Amino acid sequence: MRGVEVVVEHVTHSFAVEEGTLVVLDDVNLHAAPGAYVSITGPSGSGKSTLLSLLGGLEPSQDGSLQVGGQSLGSLSRDQLAAYRCSTVGFVFQHFGLLDTLTAAENVAVPLLLAGSSRAEANRRALDLLDRVGLAERASHRPAALSGGERQRVAVARAIGNGPALLLADEPTGNLDEDNGRMVVDLLEAICAEQGCTVIAVTHDRDLARRAEHRYRLERGQLRAAPS
Ligand code: ADP
Ligand code: MG
Repeated sequence: MRGVEVVVEHVTHSFAVEEGTLVVLDDVNLHAAPGAYVSITGPSGSGKSTLLSLLGGLEPSQDGSLQVGGQSLGSLSRDQLAAYRCSTVGFVFQHFGLLDTLTAAENVAVPLLLAGSSRAEANRRALDLLDRVGLAERASHRPAALSGGERQRVAVARAIGNGPALLLADEPTGNLDEDNGRMVVDLLEAICAEQGCTVIAVTHDRDLARRAEHRYRLERGQLRAAPS
């Protein structure tokens, strides 16, 4: 699967809060070429997760335009957004987001089943994906029996299962120690290169941010090129 071009133009997003309206994104513009590796840093509360939620179709956009692979997210219905999330986007979150009652292989299989694979196909592919992230031996383990680094590698395997053209990572190393963080960063980078998917990674991790070809910083609702 080739990566997609991402074009964000004049996106403004606000939340209703007790004190009135909180403007989180204020005329945000971003361009990522197909297969680009983009990092976004910024203080806590600056709207980084909100921007990824909009790009991932988890939250409907309010103002401005978000185009992924030439498709305008604002024009998609709820069902179309769900299909977009399933077919085009892979997510990796800081807190892994694995289902505790499922084994590693079952967690990886969930999006494959949702995309229409048979159970046998999904199981086979889940094992291949776990092998890709170096966890073939841990397929039958539940998240509680895995270290943080291993859980995040399972989450990466799950995120790439349907060959996403866009991989969105929200502080993927935020809960990991340095060595495990580096392993996950290496994996994301290798997968981006192998699959050619476009990666947008929000991070506090300097290593992860510095490796990106395109670096942005989000502050007070404004997205700017980050100083190198
Ligand atoms: P970051 O990921 O950079 O830490 P977020 O995008 O999570 O920031 O949040 C940006 C701001 O928007 C924060 O002040 C947060 O409290 C607020 N916010 C996020 N989601 C909501 C919501 N659903 N309702 C109200 N405020 C929200
Ligand atoms: Mg966040």
